Amino acid sequence: MSRKIEIFDTTLRDGEQVPGCQLSTDEKVVIARKLEELGVDIIEGGFPISSPGDFLSVVEISKAVKTGVCALTRSKKEDIDVAAEALHHAKRGRIHTGIGSSDIHIKHKFNSTREKVMEQAVWAVSYAKKKGVEVEFFAEDAGRADLAFLAQLVEAVIDAGADVVNVPDTTGYCLPHLYGRRIQYLFENVKNIDKTTISVHCHNDLGMATANTIAGLMSGARQAEVTINGIGERAGNTSLEEVAMVLKTHKDLNLHTNIKSEMLYELSTLVSEMMRMPVQPNKAIVGANAFAHSSGIHQDGFLKNSENYEIINPADVGVPSSSIILTARSGRAALKHRLELLGYQPNKSELDQLYGNFLILADEKKTIVDDDLIVLVANTPILVTHK
Ligand SMILES: [Zn+2]
Repeated sequence: MSRKIEIFDTTLRDGEQVPGCQLSTDEKVVIARKLEELGVDIIEGGFPISSPGDFLSVVEISKAVKTGVCALTRSKKEDIDVAAEALHHAKRGRIHTGIGSSDIHIKHKFNSTREKVMEQAVWAVSYAKKKGVEVEFFAEDAGRADLAFLAQLVEAVIDAGADVVNVPDTTGYCLPHLYGRRIQYLFENVKNIDKTTISVHCHNDLGMATANTIAGLMSGARQAEVTINGIGERAGNTSLEEVAMVLKTHKDLNLHTNIKSEMLYELSTLVSEMMRMPVQPNKAIVGANAFAHSSGIHQDGFLKNSENYEIINPADVGVPSSSIILTARSGRAALKHRLELLGYQPNKSELDQLYGNFLILADEKKTIVDDDLIVLVANTPILVTHK
């Protein structure tokens, strides 16, 4: 039977850490409402103690949506107090608290020891539990942590009541099979692991974020932490739309989400516009060229049967249709297809004549749009049009 994966969206927290992309509280509420409509299970709204703006955003998002709302904290009393206050109106609130788990972080960030980190982690989870909200613990830099220590830490915070344990690859260091094995190791070595939900949170420094997330889910994690368009610190977080469509496309994984995939393109555009952060044209799923076919061989194959070159129906992600980009590399089939859409029905010799003129124009103009075709037809005297 297919298992449900919880989608934890951190566009408004980790995603919003992108320099120059800060949003107002009103803008965050607009995005949060859309995320709820999209079907995400929990929205991380901010890091309340970090600024009055973040505090207010968590308050307003909590009022605006019925879905879960999460607030980030360090493992400090004041952070947890402020987060709990910000979540006061949440229908389902969650505190996301944690501490570094790799020796690099323990020594060089906290100037601490494994024992002290463990103690503080347990204290923070127990303290957050008293606030009457769900508690998620993050073991920062778990991707580089000593595995045996990580397992002890996870076991201890589950005993302290952690409802969810996040095993982040904070630095984007892991390879998919090793990250998957890390999660598998926890399932094999943490005896109370069935009392929690394991969550995966990956970064894209080596371009592995989605692959690592999927590897973690295949190893038993049941929550994925993602952002729209994969935005986030440095090279970004795992992209929500990629994870949703990997699971939808590969039904054999027996994992599913509640994401309404037909809204993905709309959300991508909304976040891109509000954050003034363009989506790269070749971005998987939502990039401008994700369903555009340019080479002649591909266009011909695509026009015979879209499945020849498309594994996703564009309508499934809310893109109205695939596009055939006419360039000097396009063949007669693509030109004929576009002419027919414009109402022209050239016969073979007419098409030959048009195609010759088309290639000359395409060499000059690179991309040919519909207006160019109309002019091309008008300037090709032997053509009998049937418009
Ligand atoms: Zn992160």
